Amino acid sequence: MRNFASVDKLLEDERIKPLHLILSRPICADVIRTVLAALRTETDEDTSYNYDAIVAKCLTALQIKIKRPLQKIINASGTILHTNLGRSPLSKELWRQAEFLNTNHINLEYHINQQKRGGRAGFVNELLCKLTGAEAALVVNNNAAAIYLILKTLAGEGQVIISRGELVQIGGGFRIPDIMAEAGSRLVEVGTTNITTVDDYIHAITEHTKLLLKVHSSNFKIRGFTSSPSIKELRAALPSHIPLVYDEGAGVLEAGLSEDISIKQALKEGADLVCFSGDKFLGSVQAGIIVGKKAYIDRLAGHPLMRAFRCGKVILSLLEASLIDKLNDSERPIGYAAQLLAIKPTKVKAQAERLAKALPVGLAEVIEADVEVGGGSLPDEFYPSYAVAINCKVSLKVNQLVTALHNLPVPILGRVAEDRLLIYLLTIKEEDMDYAAEALVKILGKKDE
Ligand SMILES: *Cc1c(COP(=O)(O)O)cnc(C)c1O
Repeated sequence: MRNFASVDKLLEDERIKPLHLILSRPICADVIRTVLAALRTETDEDTSYNYDAIVAKCLTALQIKIKRPLQKIINASGTILHTNLGRSPLSKELWRQAEFLNTNHINLEYHINQQKRGGRAGFVNELLCKLTGAEAALVVNNNAAAIYLILKTLAGEGQVIISRGELVQIGGGFRIPDIMAEAGSRLVEVGTTNITTVDDYIHAITEHTKLLLKVHSSNFKIRGFTSSPSIKELRAALPSHIPLVYDEGAGVLEAGLSEDISIKQALKEGADLVCFSGDKFLGSVQAGIIVGKKAYIDRLAGHPLMRAFRCGKVILSLLEASLIDKLNDSERPIGYAAQLLAIKPTKVKAQAERLAKALPVGLAEVIEADVEVGGGSLPDEFYPSYAVAINCKVSLKVNQLVTALHNLPVPILGRVAEDRLLIYLLTIKEEDMDYAAEALVKILGKKDE
């Protein structure tokens, strides 16, 4: 083995040891072994390696590995609910409440008043009914699971009618036709991509029809000569035994933020079930929330798959705390995205100007730049805001700047626009502004340099 230091000795080196906490000791050992193996193949029999040089090589390899564990990222991308960045951050206060519950035993499935086993998430469901005006509610792991459970329970091998304009793909590989096939249901497409009428739906009904599904086109918009019936029109025309299900997806409670049908509106117009994500507009945890008629919710809750889709105590405790907070706080808009969108653009402009002023003259300028909600929530809707555009033709190349920002102890994610990097101020958390500014100054140089 020549004169290389041993893996054990390197693992215990005071420069490497702190990384055990971040990567775990065995993973650090793997990285060190790989470095040593590479050194062995590339050095001659008689080359001797200085110990510190080996440590340095190990540290370089470990510094790459260290970007793998879950860690904080500063979102300067202008996309508020970035699915790659965990969508909505949670409030620290709610987190602390959940900490107490999760580090103790709790009544997750125990009914204290009745002194016996009780249903999971009983109170969360009650809160969801208050929030949406629904008769009943149910929570599963995510909205994809919600749709699957609905199809499996209510449609089974029967037919599901859906407009051709709503056979969508959401995010990485979640396709409505695929999920339907997976549930065993038979897809009956009606209408065309741009126009679907009430009659298209009604004429497709047979004795095998089990469900009518409407899906929010979360990540695209069809514009121009386009129309589809409202939920009200559909419910009025549909036989009462066929449930009308609306996959709202985005979690927009009330009309206002977009022209699309909100959850409350869909329920009011007669949707039998509405499902949506907990971590999009609602700004809570990853969850699939189903609200609507009690008779249907009871069937979903009783399906054997519910055991596979039920949420754990971490999710339910956080969801419960955030729902109470939303019900009590009538001052602020509901959810992280709506709260950010309520910030005055002039405030964001001032922040952008402050940042631009700290950077070398000619390198950075404040520009008008729209932000988007993202996370497959409100498609094609952009909100006026400001960004600092860093002109990368002048000094380092845009990809070098991007890499430097990724390599920071807390990486910063901007948006590349040709040879400029845009730093959106709105999506950076207030407490991270100084860090982001200092990091950029460090990389790009100060104003007068
Ligand atoms: C986001 C979305 C989904 C998927 O929801 P997840 O919670 O990410 O599983 C499904 N349908 C619609 C309409 C959506 O917007």
